[in-house]
Amino acid sequence: MHKNLAFIYSQRFNTYTYGSLHPMKVERYRLSYDLMEACGLLHHPGVEVVEATAATKEELLRFHRADYLDILERYSQNNQSCANFKYGLGDMENPVFEGLYSWISLMCGATITAVREVVQHGRRAAFSMAGGWHHGHAARASGFCYLNDVAVALQPLLQQGKRIAYVDLDAHHGDGVQQAFYATDQVLTISMHESGKDFYPYSGFIRELGEGQGYGYSVNIPLIPHSDDLILEQAMQRVVLPLIDAYRPDLLITQMGADFMRTDPLTRLEGTTAFMEYAARCFMQTELPWVAVGGGGYHSINVARAWTLVWAAMLGADVPYMLPSDFQTIVSELGYDQNLLRDPPHLANPDDFARAQKALDENIALLERRIFPLHHIRS
Ligand SMILES: [Zn+2]
Repeated sequence: MHKNLAFIYSQRFNTYTYGSLHPMKVERYRLSYDLMEACGLLHHPGVEVVEATAATKEELLRFHRADYLDILERYSQNNQSCANFKYGLGDMENPVFEGLYSWISLMCGATITAVREVVQHGRRAAFSMAGGWHHGHAARASGFCYLNDVAVALQPLLQQGKRIAYVDLDAHHGDGVQQAFYATDQVLTISMHESGKDFYPYSGFIRELGEGQGYGYSVNIPLIPHSDDLILEQAMQRVVLPLIDAYRPDLLITQMGADFMRTDPLTRLEGTTAFMEYAARCFMQTELPWVAVGGGGYHSINVARAWTLVWAAMLGADVPYMLPSDFQTIVSELGYDQNLLRDPPHLANPDDFARAQKALDENIALLERRIFPLHHIRS
């Protein structure tokens, strides 16, 4: 049987730390892997677990600037703390510790591996949970992101004339990816996120629509705090799916940040695992070649549960109702007392919902006027 799904992994994902006080917990990769394994989702007949390979300097230079890579590499060899704020390096947000360069090159390389598995090796889909560093800029670290794996991995496809749809579900605006492709119509970027009005990275507003040749190919759906699954699902149904359908890309790449969940400590959206599963099923149903990458998520067990459900949806596999007992033991040692794989259903309070619905309707009305006609979508 052809193994038509690739899961990209390396034990070396777990060999770095941002420091014990930093919200980005690298343990989430290991926990996600352990939970998928405990649910029997990595030894499925259609699955191949593919070892991630690190991005080379040459590959990184397709998108990142040489002076930035040089300084990132140099600082990473030093066990003293180093800082250069011009490049966004060395503060509390983007600390630099020894080994960072080789670790982040591996995380970035995992996305290159995933794209290769789908585009060159003909896999139906691939999941690279190590990717999704959507705030990375060509010469600046931002929002815990040092490299921009999607921008790096897509460069060869652009040179071949391929068209790509990028969808970003993370609670934060995918500013780095948007900026990388703001002036081209070869990549349609769509980001749904908590409004940047008073929230990092303070961008992703409804009127950011691309420029020049790229006008109409950057799309944002800012959501107000307390938007819940019903709002998130409408954003998919009314904007994301019609645009993907109209654009007909050669490849779909989606950022599956799990920080839109209501129990995430850094954000104010109120999504649950039900939305993550819904979105993953929608992407699979497009029947497009699909690469899913990871992203934010600052509650490690949430991330493990959400990404396990993404992978199960890709496989079309069932998952147990309860977290497997081996996994419950692991998480209880980390101080978590959860025992259900899925979140219980959750709706925002009615006043919050009414406000979120009004804001969504206004935003969608603007997209319907300005963007849908460019894509020949009838609203
Ligand atoms: Zn995020």
